[in-house]
Amino acid sequence: MAPRSRGEVDVAVVGAGNAALCAALAARQRGARVLVLEKAAREERGGNTFFTGGGFRFPYRGIDDIRALIPDLSDEEVAGIDVGAYPEPEMRSDLMRVTEGLADPGLVDRLVGTAYDTVRWMRERNGLRWVLMYGRQAYRVEGKLRFWGGMVMEAVGGGAGLSDALFEAAEGQGVGVRYGTKAVSLLTDERAAVVGLRVRDDQGLGEVAARAVVIAAGGFEANTEMRTRYLGPGWELAKVRGTRHNTGDGIRMALDIGAQPYGHWSSAHAVAWDLNAPPTGNRRIGDLYQKHSYPLGLIVNLRGERFVDEGADLRNYTYAKYGREILGQPQGVAFQLFDQQTVAMLRDEYRIREVTKGEAGTIGELADQLGIDRAGLERTVAAYNAACRPGRFNPAERDGLHTEGIDPPKSNWALPLTQPPYVGYAVTCGITFTFGGLRIVPATSQVLDTEDRPIAGLYAAGELVGGLFFHNYAGGSGLMAGAVFGRTAGGAAAEAAMAGPGERRG
Ligand SMILES: Cc1cc2nc3c(=O)[nH]c(=O)nc-3n(C[C@H](O)[C@H](O)[C@H](O)COP(=O)(O)OP(=O)(O)OC[C@H]3O[C@@H](n4cnc5c(N)ncnc54)[C@H](O)[C@@H]3O)c2cc1C
Repeated sequence: MAPRSRGEVDVAVVGAGNAALCAALAARQRGARVLVLEKAAREERGGNTFFTGGGFRFPYRGIDDIRALIPDLSDEEVAGIDVGAYPEPEMRSDLMRVTEGLADPGLVDRLVGTAYDTVRWMRERNGLRWVLMYGRQAYRVEGKLRFWGGMVMEAVGGGAGLSDALFEAAEGQGVGVRYGTKAVSLLTDERAAVVGLRVRDDQGLGEVAARAVVIAAGGFEANTEMRTRYLGPGWELAKVRGTRHNTGDGIRMALDIGAQPYGHWSSAHAVAWDLNAPPTGNRRIGDLYQKHSYPLGLIVNLRGERFVDEGADLRNYTYAKYGREILGQPQGVAFQLFDQQTVAMLRDEYRIREVTKGEAGTIGELADQLGIDRAGLERTVAAYNAACRPGRFNPAERDGLHTEGIDPPKSNWALPLTQPPYVGYAVTCGITFTFGGLRIVPATSQVLDTEDRPIAGLYAAGELVGGLFFHNYAGGSGLMAGAVFGRTAGGAAAEAAMAGPGERRG
């Protein structure tokens, strides 16, 4: 029996995270009839976007650019802060540096060149609201709160607030949303153009006819089989930080019709995540199982040995690759250690009830409490303390306060651990999202096939786009890239849909 029709639209969007909803809004604003298909039930909507801190990375020239996005900042507030500037060349260079020069320059240029305009569009056209990231991206230095690391703004209400605001905008502007509806495959016509989707919902299999489709269904981070196949052995043991629904469906359905795989398929964004966190994200805790203040302390494994340079760079530029390093340690476990010089500076996520924590008057006792090899840890801390050089500590910049004569070194913020009580947090690897995905044309987000030809009627955005992130990632660029390429995809999909089939080939 033929699958039953589930209707016909101009643009169908697969997924309901940040990238998908930006695509839906942009398509709707061009006059298209838009339907969003979300696999999750309404109570679980929002994908990884819901779990984020809502931080966005974009270039700005100074405080005036920020005030245009947060107009309610008072003069008094502005007098007490320093956001500096984040020029476009600096953002471009950060993205290229952390990806070891491998990021696709076309994608990077599109992202950097349209990011600021896109956050303004989110605010002015869609009602998104922002605040400065006082708690997570600023330190008090010489009386002023100094923002650092190219990410200064978060959505009001964090990821949950961002997700709710995007749904409100989409529904308010006439975008249809169908929950509990999983896209299963893409429908193509005799010209190989995409003409809709096969879906599965509570009535079984059906078909949605669409003149263009945007897939924004996330990566394959929540699919243990794909993780192990592409990232390697051991990755099935990683905890998933966000939604359980990003199982690679969007990538697979596009590859099935000849889309081109692109980017760093064997790599992913993965961080230090509480050892006892559940296997996938908890909507009440959100991102608070993460433990991102390690540049202020030391990281050791069960043997009590250090294995990374905790101070290699500002945390925004190292955190996404250190999850992988933790997974490679015995039992995939590590410990972050701090003393009283920095405990008060730890991020909010260290103060939740659900932490795996030890506290003791000596390093040996702390080792016993956390199950770390006692002699190993005492040796490591003694060697580290002896290697710390004198200098001025400044957490808001790479302060050059470093060690000498130990391997790995600590290149910045190297204060000796000398002031008890000592505290330690047990962490494991939490995967955020995968880097491998589909190849798109940067200016239109249209998906390319394996022969580099645009696939008529198919656009993509968000985590499932490959080519932007390799090895590592710069904090706040996931949401920004999702918004930029989502908006691009939605606009281009609507234009193609409204132009009619004859002109859709691209
Ligand atoms: C804990 C955490 C914190 C983070 N913090 C930040 C941050 O502060 N800043 C930042 O820039 N990035 C952050 N990220 C990364 C960020 O989540 C992603 O870059 C971004 O949200 C991904 O958006 P997306 O729209 O591509 O995917 P998602 O938001 O994950 O949306 C994908 C959607 O597709 C749906 N879906 C999947 N398969 C199907 C199917 N077959 N049919 C229909 N629907 C389907 C899913 O249910 C989901 O709703 C964080 C991630 C996590 C997990």
